[in-house]
Amino acid sequence: MTLTLVTIPCLADNYAFLIHDPASGDTALVDAPEAAPIAAALDARGWRLSHILLTHHHDDHIAGVPELRARGDVTVIGAAADAHRLPPLDRAVAPGESFDLFGARVDVSDASGHTVGHIAFHVPDLGAVFTGDSLMAMGCGRLFEGSPEQMWATLSHLASLPPQTLVCSGHEYTAANCRFAESVDPANPARIARTAAVTAARAAGKPTVPSVLADEIAANPFLRAANAAFRAEIGMADRTPAQVFAHLRALKDRF
Ligand code: ZN
Ligand code: FE
Repeated sequence: MTLTLVTIPCLADNYAFLIHDPASGDTALVDAPEAAPIAAALDARGWRLSHILLTHHHDDHIAGVPELRARGDVTVIGAAADAHRLPPLDRAVAPGESFDLFGARVDVSDASGHTVGHIAFHVPDLGAVFTGDSLMAMGCGRLFEGSPEQMWATLSHLASLPPQTLVCSGHEYTAANCRFAESVDPANPARIARTAAVTAARAAGKPTVPSVLADEIAANPFLRAANAAFRAEIGMADRTPAQVFAHLRALKDRF
């Protein structure tokens, strides 16, 4: 199987993703911040849009759906629990469920925290997970609807995927996330190296998304809540990872 992954910048700082199947010419889109750049990316390659996968209900992830679905026979897939606030779904899925996409298995998991009902799509054969506004490069989404415990459960699950998995997240917030990471984890060599890499990429106008899960585990402060040495370093050795996560998320909200 040789599926192709393409990252498409949208709006000011959003990303959408194409998963293309050369065998059939079909293409799945993950999240639809706006139609124009996605339509242009499809047209430039002569690719047919066949599926739209939605991570969560926020406008900057669904606004392009009506125009894109009008391109033809498009199957829109999203969380059953959020069907009332997503565009009309052709297929409603639930966490724990898997479905077939171009012969590849897509595992749906609960990614609540940023919103409740947010889902992530893991495609093992592609080596990629689509995390929307849950796990992000060097950060995680703000908790608009869910609790710290819910987001911690989400992040813990995502961190358990194979370390070389590409984390395809919804926003280019990485430079700002690195500034926060520096404030709470100044001495971590992996964090220092990552900040340098992100700074260089942004200076060159390059995206920092997708990122590699192993790099997130080593340097993303929100995943570092699971690391006992880090908890000790910030004076929270006696707290649970979920409590440390909640503390870090509150700090970031004020940063
Ligand atoms: Zn969002
Ligand atoms: Fe978003």
